[in-house]
Amino acid sequence: MSAELTPAPAVSLREVSQLYASAGGELHWALTDVDLDIGAGEFVCAIGPSGCGKTTLLNMIAGFLQPTLGRVTVQGQPVTGPGPDRGVVFQEYALFPWLTARRNVEFGLKQQGLARPERRARAEELLALTGLAHAADRYPFELSGGMRQRVAVARALATQPQVLLMDEPFAAIDALTRATLQRELLRIWEALQLSIFFITHNIEEAVFLAQRVVVMSPHPGRIHEIIEVPLPYPRERSDPAFGAIYARIGQAFAQLHGTQEEAAA
Ligand code: ADP
Ligand code: MG
Repeated sequence: MSAELTPAPAVSLREVSQLYASAGGELHWALTDVDLDIGAGEFVCAIGPSGCGKTTLLNMIAGFLQPTLGRVTVQGQPVTGPGPDRGVVFQEYALFPWLTARRNVEFGLKQQGLARPERRARAEELLALTGLAHAADRYPFELSGGMRQRVAVARALATQPQVLLMDEPFAAIDALTRATLQRELLRIWEALQLSIFFITHNIEEAVFLAQRVVVMSPHPGRIHEIIEVPLPYPRERSDPAFGAIYARIGQAFAQLHGTQEEAAA
């Protein structure tokens, strides 16, 4: 009878481009013609060399930056600025050093006008979810790098966003802790049914986490290719199918490199 209704994507970018002025006043396109949908509950990784526009893309979804051209919508609504529907986690621990872990998580809720008992309750819940219940009263300087990023995730989730934006969140973390944080993030993603946009430099991290990997290329920044990762969770790095997708993404970068060399020739 009626056509099936497809739910609106959580995030949608259409013909998005970003022009920057350098310190010398020269204009250059950091990002051109980006079309991307992130589905409700979907985990998407973006990967690419430095300067290909990954952070610019995330900043536009977060609402920190308006695109020069094109449209960005979240849950069908045009993005005009940051909002409680999107949580952001950066590579550096963007925690307030003078606040305890608990107060860091509560911070955004106070601004939203939530009463103290509710703030407390939600912070407790999120600190438990991120494995930090025992460290709630510690200050950032008393926490390891991995724990600080757990606080940053808890804080980003405090306003109950549908979309979590993460800019190389585990890049500065040692390999063992990083593997733990990746597993924990997948558990949180499944529990809260979030849409996640996660930037990384690391192919293995992308294949471990994402349902789709957006391979980006520089000069100007753009989407080179989008690669599906149709593997069930939890994933095993030793699985030959994991290795095949890893190699596939490696090939995309090799091809990119070849194209640049040809272009330079
Ligand atoms: P990535 O995160 O992939 O490393 P960015 O999005 O940070 O890339 O940057 C893309 C390009 O835009 C780079 O060439 C960078 O130098 C430039 N750029 C980023 N932010 C600004 C800015 N505020 N003003 C001018 N140029 C910028
Ligand atoms: Mg960046």
